[in-house]
Amino acid sequence: MEMKVGLVDLTSRTSEDLTVSDDLLRKYIGGSGLGVYFLFRYGSPQADPLSPENPLIFMNGPFQGTGIPTSGRHQILGKSPLTDAFGESDSGGTFGYHLKRAGYDGLIFLGKASSPVYIAVLDGRIEIRDGAFLWGRDTFETEEELIALAGKPSSVACIGPAGERRVLLANVMHDGRNARAAGRGGMGALMGSKNLKAIVARGEARPFMADEKAVRAKSAEKAKLYVEKMGAMTRFGTPGGVAFAEQNGDLPLKNWSMGSWSEEVKSITGEAMADTILTGNWGCTACPIRCGRDVAFNGIYGAGPEYETIGMLGSNCLFSVLKAIGSGNDLCNRMRIDTLSEGSAVAFSMELF
Ligand code: SF4
Repeated sequence: MEMKVGLVDLTSRTSEDLTVSDDLLRKYIGGSGLGVYFLFRYGSPQADPLSPENPLIFMNGPFQGTGIPTSGRHQILGKSPLTDAFGESDSGGTFGYHLKRAGYDGLIFLGKASSPVYIAVLDGRIEIRDGAFLWGRDTFETEEELIALAGKPSSVACIGPAGERRVLLANVMHDGRNARAAGRGGMGALMGSKNLKAIVARGEARPFMADEKAVRAKSAEKAKLYVEKMGAMTRFGTPGGVAFAEQNGDLPLKNWSMGSWSEEVKSITGEAMADTILTGNWGCTACPIRCGRDVAFNGIYGAGPEYETIGMLGSNCLFSVLKAIGSGNDLCNRMRIDTLSEGSAVAFSMELF
């Protein structure tokens, strides 16, 4: 088995294809392992995280595209602008899958473009295109624009205005309003420092499987098990854990200075969401659990807040209005700021004044 990775030099606006050997795939397992390998090959521990010397890496694992349940995830790696240390963020959604269908298992970005660009990965080709018309747009608008240009089915990874301005809490967004984020470590700031606004991927390539029939049969068996055992996650998503966390003293409350919030918490649980603003659920590629929340209220529609977002934008700030937490989530998603870090920063500020 071999994998193909695109090496993109944004400074010279050129690209080449790298072949990842079977030997390397066995030594460095999955998207994380391969990403770390390439980060050390093309980067330096001494590099300034926001300098052209810091690579930005998108990497799939070998299961991507096979249909194996919950395999539709990918990693984004680089030296973190937020911590100045190793940075890796995991995301679900559909981008990794469409990148695979476009013929690539990963992308490595080197250097820095002299002006805003976006990358089109279409049917085994990488094109570096002028992205000035996208600069300043929020992530929902950017996704809609690029899907319209590339045609369906396709998928977009992009930054919002926060990443363009190198906000250290900025992250990388996938799937527009469905809002699957690579949240940790400020990878959006790294992407913005390269003048790289977005990547759109589309293609028809199929993954190699030594015994496709066996993979499909085992995947169907496991998917059935997930549906049977993970029903609560499907019905209530990650917010279904809010009440349990509060009961066990594991919900962030005023910077962990309180242990109980039993009355207020009732209005921000997964069950409360299901009774009020929930309109449906959404899943990453090849996932039968479909834990993503679709919500609609006050003119806002799309992804609802996850457990962690409710914890940091909500309970950690002693804030129990679900629609207001949902509005904050929507704004962070559009600007592409990490909702957890944002909630943590707000809660910290509340201690200061
Ligand atoms: S839908 Fe939920 S459970 Fe399934 S892969 Fe995505 S984040 Fe994980």
